[in-house]
Amino acid sequence: GQRSKLSIQEQRKSLPIYKLKKELIQAVHDNQVLVVIGETGSGKTTQVPQYLAEAGYTTTGEIGCTQPRRVAATSVAKRVAEEFGCRLGEDVGYAIRFEDCTGADTVIKYMTDGMLLKEILIDENLSQYSVIMLDEAHERTISTDVLFGLLKQLVKRRPDLRLIVTSATLDAEKFSGYFFNCNIFTIPGRTFPVEIFYSKQPESDYLDAALITVLEIHLTEPEGDILLFLTGQEEIDFACESLHERIKRLGKNVPELLVLPAYSALPSEMQSKIFEPAPQGGRKVVVATNIAEASLTIDGIYYVIDPGFAKQNVYNPKQGVESLVITAISQASAKQRAGRAGRTGPGKCYRLYTESAYRNEMSPSTIPEIQRVDLGITTLTIKAMGINDLFSFDFMDSPPPQALISAMQQLFSLGALDEEGLLTKLGTKMAEFPLDPPLSKMLLASVSLGSSDEIITIIALIETGNIFHRPREKQAQADQKRAKFFQPEGDNFTLLTVYEAWKAKNFPLPWCFENFVQSQSLRRAQDVRKQLLSIMDKYKLDVVSAGKDTTKITKAIIAGFFFHVARKDPQEGYRTLVENQPVYIHPSSALFQIQPDWVIYNELIMTTKEYMRNVTSIDPKWLTELAPRFFKVANPTTLSKRKCRER
Ligand code: ADP
Ligand code: MG
Repeated sequence: GQRSKLSIQEQRKSLPIYKLKKELIQAVHDNQVLVVIGETGSGKTTQVPQYLAEAGYTTTGEIGCTQPRRVAATSVAKRVAEEFGCRLGEDVGYAIRFEDCTGADTVIKYMTDGMLLKEILIDENLSQYSVIMLDEAHERTISTDVLFGLLKQLVKRRPDLRLIVTSATLDAEKFSGYFFNCNIFTIPGRTFPVEIFYSKQPESDYLDAALITVLEIHLTEPEGDILLFLTGQEEIDFACESLHERIKRLGKNVPELLVLPAYSALPSEMQSKIFEPAPQGGRKVVVATNIAEASLTIDGIYYVIDPGFAKQNVYNPKQGVESLVITAISQASAKQRAGRAGRTGPGKCYRLYTESAYRNEMSPSTIPEIQRVDLGITTLTIKAMGINDLFSFDFMDSPPPQALISAMQQLFSLGALDEEGLLTKLGTKMAEFPLDPPLSKMLLASVSLGSSDEIITIIALIETGNIFHRPREKQAQADQKRAKFFQPEGDNFTLLTVYEAWKAKNFPLPWCFENFVQSQSLRRAQDVRKQLLSIMDKYKLDVVSAGKDTTKITKAIIAGFFFHVARKDPQEGYRTLVENQPVYIHPSSALFQIQPDWVIYNELIMTTKEYMRNVTSIDPKWLTELAPRFFKVANPTTLSKRKCRER
């Protein structure tokens, strides 16, 4: 049967990469830079670092392996620790933003690409490493793209360092070309044919269509697990709940269907469940975000359902706003998704879009992140590396010049760059925090304003994402509870109030259930808070409470988010100050009923209208005090002109 239980070492030996172990070690020995390609699931991520450890590379340094996604870094590290025969955080560990699970013994370290970028800021030679593996490079995250440029320089300075770039797809030639025409090592795939089915007509409700397809497969198809791709946590939670209900309604004679969500914010115990085999005689369905497209491989999948959408960070340079938008995936992505069904045996992929949409509407490949997102933190990081001239940085694909310029203008108005585009003292400090520039600015401003204690909590909660729980059958009750926390100053204050109330009770779990607050989110916020406090401590920054003086908190928020000011429109809703765009307060906001004259928002989300989320009421007279450079935008040519300065 397909679920024969192999021991963990037998599993390792059954991977396609195992037969090439010797050749791979030799290739790494002979080539300072090597591109490795192989189908997802061939064993690149879990095996390559272990092989190199066996070959002795850990005697001179650590093996660092980057992952574009947090979940991949943690879940792979956990798996490899098990294979390696150690506890997580000993020989094998991981580091992700706000979480470091490594120790003195760690020799194989999985980390997000963003973490390695932070490390290279502290030590530009990455001296602790003997090998760097830039994994899942085909994802082309912004951090990986910046690492490409930095490591391309570093390998020249450090002839002893080995660089491996791995990819699941066809970009190998491009990667090799960029890295001095280095050699390409190919792991032959072991894949089975996948039969593709398209929708005859465009689906009006892809979520419903997806759930119906899950049940149809479950009731009519031979055994084999299902993988359904959805766009995000809310959608996935809803889908899982709805599948449970629909299965219950079908009665007792239906075989068991194990429904498992998979997304980044999921606690790690839940994440590991997706790898467990399906119940005897039953089937499992994994409902996942893009993380299951290439970063995580789940064995036993025979059926893939692909609605054709993913959430992507998209930046609107005109408004200076970045938002997660549900967008159509590329053909390359669709192929990768379909491939997930053919790993264990011949599979089937149900595309919930028409064949004509696939051929004529979907772009051939995904646009690299660097060409579509806000470049604020990237610009800050590169500048902090002492590289001032971003226009001649060796990007594999250059970002649009306009995006670089607006990032520099934003950093200038935040006070992180001076008139000549050089990093200021404030900018240097901002680069120390793993936060987007508006947030790090808000934090540093709060130190001088005397409200850093509260601002740290607010940032921790913003970083955690949604903290309120709103189950469908108890929405009214949940909304009522939430309203009890509402503060007239705005939503950041509501977040703060929730956290303080929880803290006052000494962080109990039942309190979270009673108040419809997600306990995992609050606990994560607690961790993030601790991490931020330790950075504050390291740089001797004061943690002070504003006490009852809430203006000190509001002022810090303005210092970071002043370009998100909106003013009430006498006709209807609000208008943004920067672009005079019509915007509206989101109905979930504490200020929805109040509708103050001037507000500042953390983010815009586009649904039926452009909604401001996380809104704070402000007094406009504070703007000139807190954002002196707001109305004085530096000349782009001075900001970007070539200039050298000693570090
Ligand atoms: P690649 O990087 O080439 O896509 P991986 O090294 O990630 O391949 O995966 C190799 C194998 O290890 C796959 O069969 C996968 O199912 C298994 N695996 C990876 N992570 C886990 C885990 N956390 N639990 C169980 N199996 C895992
Ligand atoms: Mg991998």
